[in-house]
Amino acid sequence: MSTIYNFNPGPAILPKEVLLEIKNNFLNWNHSKSSIIEISHRSSKFIEFTLQAEKNLRYILNIPENYYILFCHGGARGQFSAIPLNLTKKFIKPDYINSGYWSLCAAKEAKKYCNPNIINVRKFTQDNKVYIQSIQNWKVSYKNTYLHYCPNETIEGIEIFEEPFLKNKIIIGDFSSTILSRQINIDKYGMIYACAQKNIGPAGITLVIIRNDLLGSVSYQTPSILDYQLLAQSNSMLNTPSVFSWYVAGLVFKWIKELGGLDFIEKNNKKKARILYKYLHSTGFYKNYIVPINQSRMNITFHLQKKELTDLFVKMAEKNRLYGLKGHSLVGGIRASIYNAMPIKGIKHLINFMKFFEKKFG
Ligand code: PMP
Repeated sequence: MSTIYNFNPGPAILPKEVLLEIKNNFLNWNHSKSSIIEISHRSSKFIEFTLQAEKNLRYILNIPENYYILFCHGGARGQFSAIPLNLTKKFIKPDYINSGYWSLCAAKEAKKYCNPNIINVRKFTQDNKVYIQSIQNWKVSYKNTYLHYCPNETIEGIEIFEEPFLKNKIIIGDFSSTILSRQINIDKYGMIYACAQKNIGPAGITLVIIRNDLLGSVSYQTPSILDYQLLAQSNSMLNTPSVFSWYVAGLVFKWIKELGGLDFIEKNNKKKARILYKYLHSTGFYKNYIVPINQSRMNITFHLQKKELTDLFVKMAEKNRLYGLKGHSLVGGIRASIYNAMPIKGIKHLINFMKFFEKKFG
């Protein structure tokens, strides 16, 4: 079977080494004589595995002791509800930054539980490129409350690299599509969260990293399964977790650690994105509409000048072993999601195909 390069936005490419480890140990996981999906989440072998996974994650993200690591249900969307349900008893009118589709989705969901102050930070340059206002210019309220934002808008391919520091604000970040792609300073945030199906593992588990003082002021009606305090007390096992997703996430954390941690990963990701954007900037046939400082390192979006060729591009790309390149239906065009597991070889193969396509149809 010849290699394909998987540019899907999520579920997305996972490291080959991890997939092979799953395959090789599947029927007799950790000498248990059963597969990982048949084993009790309360068995000592699994608990031991989760403790090691947490230790590795704490190490690679440099998570301070006063932060809990929770593995939740319900995807990142579940957190759009869980956040206000856990926090708005204390922080009445939160700020929600709108930088694109997912951050606005979070704000809209929050509206069911509170009256968020929604702040648009997405602007356009004179030549119609998208940029994000610098954080110091965000028109946030004076209230002592939490502020929600999304550092990487997966659909549009917009990334905010600046780390927020705002007086009176507890920063909450939806890191779904940028977690583990670069170093971050966890202590700048009250909470960060991420769905798994990009840089962590399979869908079915959602990572929450939350400072301990934010627990315990939950609204009475909050479903127990969304209550951070209960999840922390039960070590994320208030009910049966997705054992398989947790297991794969643990293998991915180990993979990152053994590669050299986020230093190595970040360097590699910078290099991959640089090569692809450099090529994009050199041609008039394809166009990216984001200013360089907000160009996503994980989700690289572009349009063909001849829009009518987009479907053909996607079709021919697949014939050339390049999968998952169709842009999100809301924005159209092409999106190359180049998460941690995408090798440089994949980027080069994509660029060669793009050159070939331009030569043929340009
Ligand atoms: N936030 C962001 C930034 C995302 O990219 C996604 C999924 N693509 C979500 C939230 C929603 O995640 P889920 O499907 O796990 O609810």
